[in-house]
Amino acid sequence: MSKSTYQIALLPGDGIGPEVVDAAVRVLQAGVAREGIELELKTYEAGAGLYQRTGESMAEADAQAVGRADAVLLGAMGLPTVRKADGTEIAPQIDLRERYGLFASLRPCELFPGVPTRVKAEKVNMLVIRETTEGLFAGRHDKQEPNDEAVSDRLTITRVTSEKLFEVAFQQAKQRRATHGTPGHVTLLDKSNVLRSNAFLRKVFDEVAERHPDVETARLYIDAGSMMFVTNPERYDVVVTENVFGDITSEIAAGVVGGLGVAPSGDVSLKHGIFQPSHGSAPDIAGKGVANPVATILSAAMMLEWLAQQHDDARCTEAATAIRRATAAILQDGPRTPDLGGKGTTESVTDAIVTALKN
Ligand code: NAD
Repeated sequence: MSKSTYQIALLPGDGIGPEVVDAAVRVLQAGVAREGIELELKTYEAGAGLYQRTGESMAEADAQAVGRADAVLLGAMGLPTVRKADGTEIAPQIDLRERYGLFASLRPCELFPGVPTRVKAEKVNMLVIRETTEGLFAGRHDKQEPNDEAVSDRLTITRVTSEKLFEVAFQQAKQRRATHGTPGHVTLLDKSNVLRSNAFLRKVFDEVAERHPDVETARLYIDAGSMMFVTNPERYDVVVTENVFGDITSEIAAGVVGGLGVAPSGDVSLKHGIFQPSHGSAPDIAGKGVANPVATILSAAMMLEWLAQQHDDARCTEAATAIRRATAAILQDGPRTPDLGGKGTTESVTDAIVTALKN
């Protein structure tokens, strides 16, 4: 059922996170205003800055409140200089994935006209789906005695998560075929020639693929499959893989279509959705006003599409389409930020997209 007001939790985070979230909110407001959709936006503090001040990366009450929102828009969290005693960084965005069982990270990578790419390709339009709760992150909380000689991490694949993940992949392939005119094809990337966990992953993939005979499939080893992102990215439509393989290949895919500044993502379960750029807090450019806001703006559009599906609300689809169209127009005509070879700023790009949306 469509709602009169959608509650959106904002988690700007660290570094450039607040800059790109502010930009995306301006575009989001302009996009929903066209369709008469009301948003109630509430901002929560989380990340390395909060951890430095208080010793916790997100307050428990805020983590609970975020779970009650209709959707979440997140900037970026973490700073390389802020670390826990075990040497790893704080990562409340990963804690939220675990708490709310956000097992699939959807990372679309589309080459927009006007965006420079170093790869010989004309029509790249793929969706990398990264599993986000297990795989090589499964042992994140395993107890470990301090050891200065050897340390291991655990790679776990479960049937229940893999089946849900692959169902999402096949549904996405069909939905993209209907709405984007993509082929409707799913590629599994794995290391099933060596790792038992990955042989099991492929077995479950084959079982789920049998339930979707109208979707073509391919299975590639992660090493050769990674190379093909660069040598033949046009071969990919939907790509699905375990946690760390997806972490890496989604950034290769982002590099192919213009870099992290234009790569959106959405972490979803069947009930919750957190939408965020694929990039991190980029401390090297924080505060300079040059962060590319496009990845976060496209993430906000993904959020609206997800709300449209969850609430059967066609107005949200319309608003998302308008935002994507306005963003594509500015990527083509400029202004563009320096990561895309332009001289624009976060503000000038955002202004241009908002103006394009109002026309
Ligand atoms: P990063 O994505 O922050 O930056 C990598 C490079 O891309 C940098 O040169 C940066 O300037 C550039 N870049 C990133 N986003 C950009 C944008 N919107 N516009 C223009 N250029 C952009 O990755 P990193 O440097 O490896 O990590 C920095 C911090 O972010 C670390 O603390 C890391 O843990 C954290 N991180 C957080 C998330 C998240 O919140 N989901 C994801 C990745 C990294």
